[in-house]
Amino acid sequence: MGLYEPDKSFAIDTHFHANVFRRPHAKRRRIATQLSRYAAHLDGLCSTEHAYKQPLEAYDFLCEMVGHYELDLTTVPGVENISREGVEVIQLFESRAALVSALKAFPAFSWSIHDAVSLQSPDCVTILPHPFSPSGTGIVSGIGFDRACQLLSHFDYIEISNGSFLEVPLDALPRTKFKDQVEKTTQFPEELMPLGVGRSYGSDAHRPRDINLFSSLVKGYDESVFQALTMRQDLKPILRTIAEFRAVGKISRSLLTSSIEYMQKQDYKLTNNGDGTRSSLAKRARSRILG
Ligand SMILES: [Zn+2]
Repeated sequence: MGLYEPDKSFAIDTHFHANVFRRPHAKRRRIATQLSRYAAHLDGLCSTEHAYKQPLEAYDFLCEMVGHYELDLTTVPGVENISREGVEVIQLFESRAALVSALKAFPAFSWSIHDAVSLQSPDCVTILPHPFSPSGTGIVSGIGFDRACQLLSHFDYIEISNGSFLEVPLDALPRTKFKDQVEKTTQFPEELMPLGVGRSYGSDAHRPRDINLFSSLVKGYDESVFQALTMRQDLKPILRTIAEFRAVGKISRSLLTSSIEYMQKQDYKLTNNGDGTRSSLAKRARSRILG
């Protein structure tokens, strides 16, 4: 295990779907071209294709894309697996071979979320994505609040915020159960966070242009991304700038969702109106993004 270098931070999207399943060759080429641009500011990208959408093929596609465009980008093999109750869990691995074995050992819908602890091994890092997702794929909506809370400590990471929910215009929604679920998917309640479990942030993008939120990982120079992830770190959120949200047509001048506004107020924000308290870590990440 290498020494931690607090100065060396690594921008990584911990939840990304290449989404090339059953796509024709021309479409894949377009995705690769777009991704080479939208992932240019990242150091790492976790391949977390759905278990029922050929996750191995998705990982191979990302590796090929990185090679073709000669990007300085580490790809992490993984899968967004799904239990027989319909609850999703991300599994990340050190190697392609480890992903292959896990796909055999835990096929989609074959295992129970109640046995989530059986997913754990030194060769696998687990992330519980979008626990409060309004769809049943979040653990809370899938098996109920009380049972879900008992299982939270069985994962290496909990996804504190999911990028695909950040752009929901919460302010425009009436106070409903749905709104509550979306709020807690954009910001997992701190009081539910079990001790010793890491925090992660990922875009859950299914298109390159949707990469909007990712994590800052602390990694030693001689350490692999996977080894750094096994430390159950409290990853820090890095958010696309408001200018960039607008540039890809995600939010109009008049619409700034309360979730994005909230994230912008976090310590590691990437806004253009600095307040002097930003850490050097975020500053460097920012210059990497803006530069
Ligand atoms: Zn996902």
